[in-house]
Amino acid sequence: MPKEPNLKTLKLVTAICSLLWFVQTAFAADRPNIIYILADDVGYGDLGCYGANSVKTPNLDRLAKEGTRFTDAHATASVCTPTRYAFLTGRYAWRQPGTGIAPGDQPLLIKPGTATVASVLKSAGYRTGVVGKWHLGLGEPPKTDFNKELKPGPLEIGFDYAFLIPATGDRVPCVFVENHGVVGYDPADPIQVSFGKKIGDAPTGADPGVKLKIQGGPGHKDSIINGISRIGFMTGGKAAHWVDENIADTLAAKAVKFIEASKGGPFFLYLTPHDIHEPMVPHPRFRGTSECGWRGDVIHELDWTVGEILASLDRLNLAANTLVIFTSDNGGAIKNTYDDGTNDLHGRQPPNGKLRGSKGTLYEGGHRVPFLARWPGRIAPGGVSGQLMGHVDAMATFAALTGQQLPADAGPDSFNVLPALLGEKTAQPPRDHLVLQNNNQAPLALREGNWSLIEKPGRRQGAAAGPTYELYNVADDLVQANDLAAKEPQRVKDMSARLERIRQQGHSRPGATAGAN
Ligand code: CA
Repeated sequence: MPKEPNLKTLKLVTAICSLLWFVQTAFAADRPNIIYILADDVGYGDLGCYGANSVKTPNLDRLAKEGTRFTDAHATASVCTPTRYAFLTGRYAWRQPGTGIAPGDQPLLIKPGTATVASVLKSAGYRTGVVGKWHLGLGEPPKTDFNKELKPGPLEIGFDYAFLIPATGDRVPCVFVENHGVVGYDPADPIQVSFGKKIGDAPTGADPGVKLKIQGGPGHKDSIINGISRIGFMTGGKAAHWVDENIADTLAAKAVKFIEASKGGPFFLYLTPHDIHEPMVPHPRFRGTSECGWRGDVIHELDWTVGEILASLDRLNLAANTLVIFTSDNGGAIKNTYDDGTNDLHGRQPPNGKLRGSKGTLYEGGHRVPFLARWPGRIAPGGVSGQLMGHVDAMATFAALTGQQLPADAGPDSFNVLPALLGEKTAQPPRDHLVLQNNNQAPLALREGNWSLIEKPGRRQGAAAGPTYELYNVADDLVQANDLAAKEPQRVKDMSARLERIRQQGHSRPGATAGAN
């Protein structure tokens, strides 16, 4: 018969449990709140602290002054959906077919049960929230039904709270979703969406003589909501339609409310502003405030949003224990699809600075983005770091920050770049390479140190003639003007072989296994 525990043993167990609880609580108290602001389509040259002079970004410049500014940080893809997939899962999106730019009725792209940045932080005791553009699908296959409970969604993959633009500002449905339902939903006015086939009798942006706030370009001539034609058709849900001019105000208010409700901490807020994606429709108080037309005005609006977040942290006395990161989901677009009459003003300030390429390309301008990190007392104020890193690194970095060991099948491409964030010197850089993509699974680019290898389109189909790769040294040739592929055949051979290995083995983080979705 097992012996009954005696009083002495019970007392000892109780004492150990109390000590463990104390250690855990004390450690948790050191864990910072984390606010990750992933702006949309903001280029490397779009902020004052990165050299812009035709817009004013005092709040973002404040982040740079009080924190560290990174000069070689990358959105893992050069368009929205794959970057957001890679950020949340720690896995390159090109490993998962179907993660290109998602339509507005896309079911959830991340399978419940997959480790995400949110689930990792939740398991460390964080309250987790997402406010803003989601663009990773909602609900069950085959297509989202916005009249039903919208699950699975963020709440099924690690978030405690969600307030979302389901897809993008230029796509239907033009409604907000809070947790599992459409905000302002009226069952008497059901919502239908369609991509490709017209539904409803209302005029569209393609109809002649129709009056619009701004003219939609190719692909943006379908249903008209709030005087703006969109991608896709939508009927119903009239009481739920958003007003584009007010989106930034709404998202900022929801974000601040989440911070206030979570101030007991620790919390994780993934804030994904609509700005500065198209349609660029600044609130009237920002119109005409920049020298770059509405594009510059929405940069001002974005900066104001960041200011609201920083002010709330100051007001709630949370700034000292909050890590704030600001970055963008891809490089800047050179020209708007919508014609708001200000396209010719964009050239006053190149969205991607000196970088070659723009949103949707594999050149640096497509994916090298602003990245600012502030954590008073832990991250050096006014610092500048040239460490190579990608948004895919968030999972391993935040796991390390919260003292967690990532399971082998979590974040297969996520590297812990915490030492770089904290400005700590390490024998080896936290990561020496990074794979970049556009919207599709191929072609890809590989950064290895300062070298950039870019696959030529068509390679996977077996291009018959011409060079297979472009090769640049971005330290000597930031503008990627001199293709060195012909001069450096061995480097091309080595780097292309490494890229192929990363492709084939299903993971790139040492110790990881191929994650599955
Ligand atoms: Ca984007």
